[in-house]
Amino acid sequence: MDFVGNHIISVNQFERADVDRIFSVADAMRPYAMRERITRVLEGAIVSNMFFEPSTRTRVSFGSAFNLLGGEVRETTEVKTSSLAKGESLYDTARVLSGYSDVIVMRHPEPGSVAEFSEASRVPVINGGDGPNEHPSQALLDLYTMREELRNKGRSIDGFGIALIGDLKFGRAVHSLCKLLGLFENIRLHLVSPPGLELPEEIVAELKRRHKVVSFHALEEGLHDVDILYVTRTQEERFPNQKEADRYRGLFRINQSIYTEHCEPNTVIMHPLPRDSRAQAQELDDDLNQNPNLAIFRQTDNGVLVRMALFALVLDVVDEAHNHAQPVTWHTAKRHHPLGGRP
Ligand code: ASP
Repeated sequence: MDFVGNHIISVNQFERADVDRIFSVADAMRPYAMRERITRVLEGAIVSNMFFEPSTRTRVSFGSAFNLLGGEVRETTEVKTSSLAKGESLYDTARVLSGYSDVIVMRHPEPGSVAEFSEASRVPVINGGDGPNEHPSQALLDLYTMREELRNKGRSIDGFGIALIGDLKFGRAVHSLCKLLGLFENIRLHLVSPPGLELPEEIVAELKRRHKVVSFHALEEGLHDVDILYVTRTQEERFPNQKEADRYRGLFRINQSIYTEHCEPNTVIMHPLPRDSRAQAQELDDDLNQNPNLAIFRQTDNGVLVRMALFALVLDVVDEAHNHAQPVTWHTAKRHHPLGGRP
C-alpha cells in the first residue's frame, strides 16, 4: 500500500511487503527509542490522540512515539469531556480536529466508527481500536515481537505454531492478529477458548485457507506443541451484562506449574495486556514474572518502535528522520534506576 497521507484502519489494507516495510522502519527507530540518537523530524507537527475508551499502553505509546520523532501530542481521553457528549457527530468532530492536527489516532467503542471518522478527516487517521472489531497497531507490534522472539530461536513466522487463548470472540487484538497471520504460510494455530467465546466463524474460515487450525475448549489440551502462547483477557466490557461476564472469570489461568507441565520448554508467552490481575481472574499469573520466556514487556517496548514507524511512513519522513540527528543529551542509561534502562 501507499502509506503516505493514508489512513490505517484495518490490517486488511496490508500486503506482506507492507508488513516487512513497517518492520524494517521500526528496526531503524530503535536508536531513537533508546535515546542513543535524537531526531526532531516532526518538530512543529501535532498528533491528536482521541481515546473514547480506556487505554494506557496504546495512548501513551502513540504519544511517546510522536514525541520521540520531535512532535507534540494533544489528547482527549473521555467522551464526557469532548463534544461527542453534546451530540456532535463523528463527521463534525473529524472536520474540526483535522484542522488542528497533522495526524489523528482514535479509539472508539463502536465497530466501524474510526473508519467513519476517517472519511471526514483531512489528515491521516490511525485506528487505536474500534470496539471488538480491530486494533491494527497492536497486531503489528505483536507480530513484530513474534518475529523477534522466533528469530532469537533461529525460527521464522512461516511454519511456526501458536496457541491463541481466552476470549477470542470479543478480543479485537486477536482478530487483527489472525487477519495479519493470513499473510504468512503454513502456521499451526490452536484456538483455545471456553465454549461461547470462540473466534468468529468468518475469521476461522479465512485462517483455514492457509493454515492448520485446531480448536480446543480445554485449556491444557491446547498448550502442547506450539512455539508461542498468546493469552488474552476476558473482554468484560463487551458482554451484555456483568453476570454474563462473570461466568468466564478465572476459567482459563496459566501459571508456572501449568506452563511447566503442559508447554514445550521455552514456549514464548505473550499477552496484548492489560492482564486481569484480580484474584478471581489471573489469566496470566504473576508467578510467571521471572520466567525469561514471558515476552509481555518486550511486546510493550516494541509498541513504541512500531508506532514510530507508522507515523514516519504516513507522514513521509522515514528518510528525513535519519538526517536530523542531534547531539544526545538524555539517554535511558541516565534513568538511575536499579533495574537500569530498557532491556
Ligand atoms: N489492550 C488491548 C485492546 O485494547 C487488549 C485488551 O484490552 O484486552 O484491545
